[in-house]
Amino acid sequence: MASFAIIGAGISGLACANALAAAGHQVALFDKGRGPGGRMSTRRVDTPLGQAFFDHGAQFFTERDPDFQKTIARLEAQGAVGLWRGKFVRFGEAGEPDALGDEPRYVGTPGMNGIVRGLAAGLNPSWGKRVSTLSGRKGAWHLQVEAGEILGPYDQIVCAVPAEQVSDLLAAHTPAIGEQAEAIRSLPCWAGLFAFEEPLALAWDMARFEAHPVLDVISSSMNKPGRTGPVTYVVHGRAEWSTAHLEESADEIADALLKALAQICGPLPQPLVQSAHRWRYARVETHHGPGYVYDEDQGIGACGDWLSGPRVESAWLSGHHLGQALSA
Ligand SMILES: Cc1cc2nc3c(=O)[nH]c(=O)nc-3n(C[C@H](O)[C@H](O)[C@H](O)COP(=O)(O)OP(=O)(O)OC[C@H]3O[C@@H](n4cnc5c(N)ncnc54)[C@H](O)[C@@H]3O)c2cc1C
Repeated sequence: MASFAIIGAGISGLACANALAAAGHQVALFDKGRGPGGRMSTRRVDTPLGQAFFDHGAQFFTERDPDFQKTIARLEAQGAVGLWRGKFVRFGEAGEPDALGDEPRYVGTPGMNGIVRGLAAGLNPSWGKRVSTLSGRKGAWHLQVEAGEILGPYDQIVCAVPAEQVSDLLAAHTPAIGEQAEAIRSLPCWAGLFAFEEPLALAWDMARFEAHPVLDVISSSMNKPGRTGPVTYVVHGRAEWSTAHLEESADEIADALLKALAQICGPLPQPLVQSAHRWRYARVETHHGPGYVYDEDQGIGACGDWLSGPRVESAWLSGHHLGQALSA
């Protein structure tokens, strides 16, 4: 039995942790976030109509791989995941929207981070721990947390964070992984978060925009399973627009995304909630194909969507396959 420290408790880090724990290894998970989610986070906001839930990162996920399907079926039985029976459309250059493919789409319940919470059950991740440096060697790694705390020793390290944050942690110990991570570029995304007293009159639940100067996605929580409180709307700015406006304030962005929402839906009532969240590293533009990387001499592995593709399922598969390889 070996001990592993996993940096990052998003879906890839948790998939890796589950595979290692199932093989009998000791796993310690550290995440800088205040709670579970990563890019599958859910923000809760108190309103006079009850708590509003905003899935401000990933909107849904699909399941194609048999191992992922088994995991989703288990989480669905536990009430942590549900099928989103919504209407999904795509707006092209002009005219009426087309229906998007009818592959089943799933969400976490009661918010998107329900799936991450479900995967974390029994693993007891430590939240609010931003790891800043590693020291030591295979068999005796220590982690330094930003607050100054030193954690360890651990036999091996798994780094499950976005590519842009990998090389700072790993380049000094495993230059090959550091270089691979440095070659990756992730695109940003501004997310607008809105709620109104009454639901908006939309003929669909989620729309993808292919030719809009500002919008990428508008998504409503109306028919997402397990949601309570007011209906919420998440508006994702397209990558080019988000890049051009990356350093503007959240208030300015929320105003701009609300205007873009009104262009699509018509005049809007005064919002109950209006805010914006900046995803600096939202989705990888390019990714390496191997699924995961591992430096056996150093006992350091890395997983995440930058190694497998910008989707929830790909990120899970990356962590799952790394965990299986390390267990073997
Ligand atoms: C706006 C947006 C929309 C998306 N839409 C979809 C969609 O509809 N469908 C889909 O399938 N996918 C979608 N995705 C992509 C999907 O969310 C990601 O591919 C997936 O969640 C990545 O998981 P991960 O575990 O690799 O990374 P993350 O979820 O980013 O997890 C990494 C974790 O590492 C932690 N961390 C980072 N640095 C440190 C450190 N130094 N110390 C400790 N912890 C650290 C972070 O807090 C985070 O929790 C979307 C993403 C975004 C942002």
